[in-house]
Amino acid sequence: MENPDPPLSYPPAGYRSPRPAPVPTLVAWAHEHLLSMLVSMEIAPGTRIGIDAVARKLGISQTPIREALSRLEAEKLVIKVPNVGYHASAQMTPSEVSDLYVLRQLIEPYAAARAAESMTDETLRQLAAMEEEMDRIQAETGVAYARFAEADAMLHSLVATGSGNPLIADTIARLHMHLHIFRFLFNTNAPQEAAQEHAEIIHALLARDPAAAEAAMRTHLERSRVRMEEASVRIAARTSPEPRAVSPARRGGI
Ligand SMILES: [Zn+2]
Repeated sequence: MENPDPPLSYPPAGYRSPRPAPVPTLVAWAHEHLLSMLVSMEIAPGTRIGIDAVARKLGISQTPIREALSRLEAEKLVIKVPNVGYHASAQMTPSEVSDLYVLRQLIEPYAAARAAESMTDETLRQLAAMEEEMDRIQAETGVAYARFAEADAMLHSLVATGSGNPLIADTIARLHMHLHIFRFLFNTNAPQEAAQEHAEIIHALLARDPAAAEAAMRTHLERSRVRMEEASVRIAARTSPEPRAVSPARRGGI
């Protein structure tokens, strides 16, 4: 394919290897564990989160747990009820899921095309490193799965920021969608499928090919939407009082 953009010099002169990751604080540690309990449904949507019980389970004091919970509140995964405490937020409804994917399909393929043109070499290096990391994650435990979900959120955020349009980056950040999506997909092969789709996006960005980046993002979101639909149907079948036949036909939503 003809590519009018100059090839990426990789790695460019002056590149320094990234700093080693800092030792996680107790708050970060508590956040990671709570997150893994939430995305793996060990704490089911809508249930109360007892700070005492979590503190005992993790063997730490309540203070870092409270801080981790307020971070999760900002991420819309828990809600604080005055005089009651924290609850895991409710699962997204089918119509919320449908609305979310309509919006993502409008914004993210465009963002990927613009990112292919204007993303910095530094961000491209970060994405290439993430591709390797996401390939390595065996998302079998709750903690590893939560890490994969966070890496997915980071990848989409880097593409949105790389588009050069701050409103797009802000819109994607405000949706806080990834962790909610991953709550549906625990115990599925979504991480492996998504890792392959992400690789396509990253390769197109590295090649600075806007059309390929746009197409790869569109395909990823379409497949992600189908995975969500299938997971929603399974969850609905598990929670409905009587077993019911599931029609394979899709009717403009889930
Ligand atoms: Zn993704």
